[in-house]
Amino acid sequence: MVEEFAFDNTEERRRSRQNGTGWIEVIVGSMFSGKSEELIRRLRRAQIARQKVQVFKPKIDDRYSIEQIASHSGMTHVSHPVMTAKELMAQIKDDTEVVGIDEGQFFDAEIVNAANELANNGKRVIIAGLDQDYTGKPFEPMPQLLSIAEFITKTHAICVKCGATANYSQRTFESKERVEVGASGKYEARCRKCFVPHSDAPTVL
Ligand code: ADP
Ligand code: ZN
Repeated sequence: MVEEFAFDNTEERRRSRQNGTGWIEVIVGSMFSGKSEELIRRLRRAQIARQKVQVFKPKIDDRYSIEQIASHSGMTHVSHPVMTAKELMAQIKDDTEVVGIDEGQFFDAEIVNAANELANNGKRVIIAGLDQDYTGKPFEPMPQLLSIAEFITKTHAICVKCGATANYSQRTFESKERVEVGASGKYEARCRKCFVPHSDAPTVL
């Protein structure tokens, strides 16, 4: 119990709340590391505390406008799909206390200013996203969000090859596009040793 409280910075957040400002929490890690689970867990707890919550995810493709965020383990939460940070800001209600954002890596750079503005206006902002792309490069705008966040949580998956702590998302199909929509089942969690950085050929896997 004590460890769980330390993990999601509850004590620090309680202290921050006393001066009336908001703050930014960022949850990063590879695919399958539990980012969405952790985001949904925090959002549920906020709702249990009867706080007003709004949740967003990027609409990276017109075909995908499912109004929920989901974890690989089946947890779900309602969310509004938006194309841009500007569109997200336009939907924010004055009395919203907690703003949840999933798949932060698919937002435009303006999400950084948006998160700051929300926090400055007293809102708790929780953003989950991939910190690296399929080649292991930092995935903007997550590095920028990590820089401005008060609280950071790094989640880890289990390497499907050797069972070690996994920090990478291995692409297991051929493509050099940074964003691959609808590619579920085509990525694996891998550790530093088992990760093949430029996986554009299934034969090297
Ligand atoms: P993320 O948002 O980081 O992609 P999710 O929260 O959607 O992660 O899913 C995490 C869940 O995925 C875990 O609780 C577990 O049930 C499942 N899972 C599947 N493969 C793995 C793996 N290789 N390592 C860890 N969890 C995995
Ligand atoms: Zn491994």
